[in-house]
Amino acid sequence: MTPEEFRRRGHEIIDWLADYHAKMSDYPVQPATQPGDVKAMLPASPPIEAEGFGEIIADLDSVVLPNISHWQHPRFFGYFPSNSLGSGILGDLVSSGLGVLGLSWQSSPAVTEIEEVTVDWFRQMVGLSSAWFGVINDTASTSTLVALLCAREKTTGFSLVRQGLQAELKPLTIYTSASAHSSVEKAALLAGFGRENVRMVDIDDSFAMRPRALEDAILADIRAGFKPCAIVAAVGGTATVSIDPVSEIAAIARRHGLWLHIDAAMAGNAMILPELRWMWEGVEDADSVVINAHKWLGVPFDCSLYFVRDEPHLLRVMSADPSFLQSQADEKVRNLRNTGIPLGRRFRALKLWFAIREQGVSGLQARLRRDISLAQDLRSKVEATPGWEVVAPVALQTVCIVNRPKSVPSHRLDDFTRAWAHAVNASGQAYVTPATAAGHWMVRVSIGAISTEASDIEAVWHTIQEAAAAVVPKFS
Ligand code: PLP
Repeated sequence: MTPEEFRRRGHEIIDWLADYHAKMSDYPVQPATQPGDVKAMLPASPPIEAEGFGEIIADLDSVVLPNISHWQHPRFFGYFPSNSLGSGILGDLVSSGLGVLGLSWQSSPAVTEIEEVTVDWFRQMVGLSSAWFGVINDTASTSTLVALLCAREKTTGFSLVRQGLQAELKPLTIYTSASAHSSVEKAALLAGFGRENVRMVDIDDSFAMRPRALEDAILADIRAGFKPCAIVAAVGGTATVSIDPVSEIAAIARRHGLWLHIDAAMAGNAMILPELRWMWEGVEDADSVVINAHKWLGVPFDCSLYFVRDEPHLLRVMSADPSFLQSQADEKVRNLRNTGIPLGRRFRALKLWFAIREQGVSGLQARLRRDISLAQDLRSKVEATPGWEVVAPVALQTVCIVNRPKSVPSHRLDDFTRAWAHAVNASGQAYVTPATAAGHWMVRVSIGAISTEASDIEAVWHTIQEAAAAVVPKFS
């Protein structure tokens, strides 16, 4: 592609994306695609001769658009908002266009320094003290894995790094709860803890970890000859956005010398609202925190911010310093490769930098407050309707709903719930996610697409009621 063709096609692609965003609400939120449909539209082997770029762009309309779920749709209420501000999208594009890698400070100084400054802005935005140092990873899964590796090395005095997994005589244990994201258990397994050494601490009626049960579990493990290592607490558990009591958990962590990692993957973004910081009171006593700016803040996937209090410890665990990456600047700069798992680092800070500057902190705060208020509107509607229930506190922007019609026997409620969630999604009118909480199915309505308005909340509530009414006879 010549530079001139790149310019022309680039303009075309931007126009195409702008049109897509403008007409997004005309699409069914979820496509009717069946497994294999997309593959059937593609040749099984690569083209030997070059294709015209026009043909490639045409396939965006014929192959891609009809077969994607529209996460940016105003009636997308699935999973969590992974919303993309225009400024963030452009920041991501520039990152690819520049094609630079942060292998070291010297390999592209702005990659490091813009990340340092932007992450520190973010730290200030969420109200963390200057004792914290942060970096950008791809995902919360990676950040939590790094946290558990750091915890492991702290507990063992680096014996695992030096001698490998055989070094520890006492099995190390991890504490989290059933409300935690699956990435926590996965990180524990990858970090070598073993599934049988991950303790799922009891939760209370609001799905939050019970501190008393946590301490009992730690004490029982010590008595049984285990070595308690780390606690992962959720500020915004995945299913219900439950809030673990960080202060009390931090006190227990300190008493027993455990690492405390806070998974605030989505809810951490809400800490840019000073009135909500009570939710993680005690966070200053934690050792590490993860917040995904790609969840709800508006920065396109992927952009996960990982903060630690002990930067030198992170560097000791993660450093690699081969000769070809050393430079004369090394004594005066940070080499961010030494803060995480990959060597090469994308210029992820650009999209965060663009988004914060284009919106201003007040713009970001206003949108989050809007979503919180929309969630309260939906909660009121559900609670005011006979047969419908909100099954978890609506702390932020997620409303967890069940319908208990008199005609549906209780042993069929779970199947009924999944059936009406499926009917909502199949209608293409809205997209929601069924999930279990306390062993029963409910439906999560997770609000936060950039273009969602009050009328979309009306619409999803209408679609939900219609879908449930339509499937009731099958379960009565
Ligand atoms: N933690 C929580 C609380 C989450 O909700 C999620 C994703 O939904 C994750 C971790 C994993 O996020 P990622 O996809 O960035 O690994």
